[in-house]
Amino acid sequence: MTQPARDIEPFRADAGAIIAGAPVELLVGGKWISATGGNRFDVADPSNGRTIASVADGAVTDGIRAIDAAEASATMWRQTPSRRRSDILMRCHQLMLDHAEWLAQLISLENGKALPDARGEVIYAAEFFRWYAEEGVRTLGDIGHAPGGANRILVQYQPIGIAVLVTPWNFPAAMATRKIAPALAAGCTCVLKPAAETPLTALAIGAILMEAGLPEGVVNIVTTTVAGPVVSAMLHDSRVRKLSFTGSTAVGRILLREAANRVISCSMELGGNAPFIVFDDADLEDAVAGAMVAKMRNGGEACTAANRFYVQRGIYDAFVRRLTEEMSSLSVGPGLQATTQLGPLITATAVEKVDRLLKDAVARGARIETGGAPVSGEGFFYPPTVLADVAPHSDIAKEEIFGPVAAVSPFDTEDEAVRLANDTEYGLISYVYSGDLRRALSVAERIESGMVGINRGVVSDPAAPFGGMKQSGLGREGGHHGLLEYLQPKYIATNW
Ligand code: NAD
Repeated sequence: MTQPARDIEPFRADAGAIIAGAPVELLVGGKWISATGGNRFDVADPSNGRTIASVADGAVTDGIRAIDAAEASATMWRQTPSRRRSDILMRCHQLMLDHAEWLAQLISLENGKALPDARGEVIYAAEFFRWYAEEGVRTLGDIGHAPGGANRILVQYQPIGIAVLVTPWNFPAAMATRKIAPALAAGCTCVLKPAAETPLTALAIGAILMEAGLPEGVVNIVTTTVAGPVVSAMLHDSRVRKLSFTGSTAVGRILLREAANRVISCSMELGGNAPFIVFDDADLEDAVAGAMVAKMRNGGEACTAANRFYVQRGIYDAFVRRLTEEMSSLSVGPGLQATTQLGPLITATAVEKVDRLLKDAVARGARIETGGAPVSGEGFFYPPTVLADVAPHSDIAKEEIFGPVAAVSPFDTEDEAVRLANDTEYGLISYVYSGDLRRALSVAERIESGMVGINRGVVSDPAAPFGGMKQSGLGREGGHHGLLEYLQPKYIATNW
């Protein structure tokens, strides 16, 4: 076992300079307002645990004020010509790019991810505005004849109504724009409730929306530490027609129950447990490069992160050796430090969870090839870790790791790989590496996940339908499908 000596330099850049200009109040009706009672909460830098900002802590009444504002602008926005809505979305895209470096630093500061990851997120997040600016002006609808000849069938697509958008901390910009952009393109007004760990990025996007000329009240942002009551109150408000949630499956289940009371349309992007299958005939270097992206993008804190590596016996030892070399060469440090390739995890709790999963796997016979224990000192750091010979029934193979640990197990046959891959309640994404495209496509068809990457370690694309099967979610974000989540078909029967 190699324990890398991690010497994490304290971060010296001036966090205050990055925060300067970032809003810290609620965005309601186009105005930055304090929370009811003036309540506030602190946001911490995960690389050292220190407070970097104090943000308005919205109460239930603030959530309802935000719905009032979304309602006040709803008719105006649905009647705004799609070309004008598109122009505003296009300006949002450009403004995000104009402010890309600032946004990336803000993401890195409050989330901890390495700056290159944060820069990539900004580009990805901005692209949702451009994609939906283009998609929103394409007219939808059908006219047909009833087969019996009784009437014509006209189908129009109308905005579904006020949308509540709830987002996680791991992609604080992209998870927000992946919802806001299609909602606006469809003609819906909305309230965004970002994660309390990363409110600054969401509020900065609010400022960009205002700068782009978005009319007041179309997007409202309520930051809060009491997510449960605030979101519940909004879902029980008869004006709300849509919930789009990205987060854990556990919270997703709670919100599906809440939404059931008023039969609110739900789009749910939930947890993952991605298998990464490498067949003997795969190109070893391609597979290792893909594994590094699939595992380490965002420091492993991604719903798409490869959680279980299944590697065919003939290539197994070579794969473990090369993956270990690559993982142990990564440089760990505060996200904003220029040399950093892996930043801290989001909280101390996240570090404890990763370590618990690792210890369980080791107790069941897994071997630590590199890493394997939290980094001591300030901040929430866990080193890049490779575990070999992980027993399939270990907790680490069942739960989302959400950290920089690669759990690798051998397999012998194609059927065994598919069975292992499907042995989970999740079904978000899978990865298959093989030199035989027919085999890869056939395995991709048999795997129960909403997305499959064949000889690719990353699949996310604003133009593609992102989403899961089984308990990884309902509905799709991105692409044409993402727009449909905010529209409802209306059938008109008529003759002329
Ligand atoms: P989380 O479920 O704890 O929180 C997500 C959001 O829900 C946050 O805004 C949080 O404040 C809010 N929330 C928490 N409890 C709530 C409640 N009772 N009522 C209403 N809102 C509540 O998830 P997280 O830790 O922020 O994010 C990590 C999870 O998100 C992982 O499971 C990851 O796989 C998942 N995720 C999924 C996707 C996807 O597209 N499928 C993308 C990113 C993250």
